[in-house]
Amino acid sequence: MDDDNNRSTAKNDPTQAEGKPKEQKGEGLKSNTKARRQICHRCNRPLPAACICEALPEVPIKLDRTGIVVLQHPHELKIKNRSIPILELCLDDSSLGLCVGRRFDKELIDPKIIEILEAPDHLPVLFFPPDNDEKDVISLIEAKKIINDKLPEGGKVIIVALDATWKYAKEMHRANLQENLYPSNLIRVSLQPSDFPKDWVSGRFNIRTTPKKGESTLGFMSTVECIAWAASELGGPNNSKDLFATLMKPLDLMVAKWNAFCKQPKVRKTKAPQKKRRRDEYESS
Ligand SMILES: [Zn+2]
Repeated sequence: MDDDNNRSTAKNDPTQAEGKPKEQKGEGLKSNTKARRQICHRCNRPLPAACICEALPEVPIKLDRTGIVVLQHPHELKIKNRSIPILELCLDDSSLGLCVGRRFDKELIDPKIIEILEAPDHLPVLFFPPDNDEKDVISLIEAKKIINDKLPEGGKVIIVALDATWKYAKEMHRANLQENLYPSNLIRVSLQPSDFPKDWVSGRFNIRTTPKKGESTLGFMSTVECIAWAASELGGPNNSKDLFATLMKPLDLMVAKWNAFCKQPKVRKTKAPQKKRRRDEYESS
């Protein structure tokens, strides 16, 4: 078994935070740029170029009718421009369960995550496209009807998401299925175009992957976009559509700041690949 499999983390574990502040003491002669780097204490992103605090809610949001569980592939922790930290910044501890790993393995996952998934008054809903010819996958509209019938009085819908590249997410999903690790009452949802309004803004998180011309952008939705839309649709009257707009604000600012930075003139030449070089400069600015 991989030694980095299924490490569970508390929501605010600073070791999981994006752009974790680096110790600046003695970073050495060869790291003058890093020594100058200032990190925002709230969003853990470099100041001022990448800070997104102005777009965050004043206080963390507490979800009423929904909870969120994210299984995050260990590889995601190495990626700088991730969307999940936005959820960690916007939601309170009781609304988000984040664990790092490849499977919902009871032996290795934080027991609190398993408790959330298996509580009798919780109804877990996995958002993941059908793999191969899986047939038990329904749209969000169809899921709402089932949820209305099945959700116990005062219960919660638990939005379950796998946070990984498409390739890794498929591996995670297959492993969970093959080892029967999903909750037995799990509802499987694949978001369909009909689940969105006509004025839906697609492909807003274009930092990491941009669809090719003519290609559907639904499959390129970031984890946060998917979760935010699901929570706003399933959350009930206390978590209205405002929730989606609130969660998109910091995401949009993150993308805008990245795109603005990319338009700046190049400041130096290195042998690093261009994409990586620009990200390194961004992180150091
Ligand atoms: Zn900040």
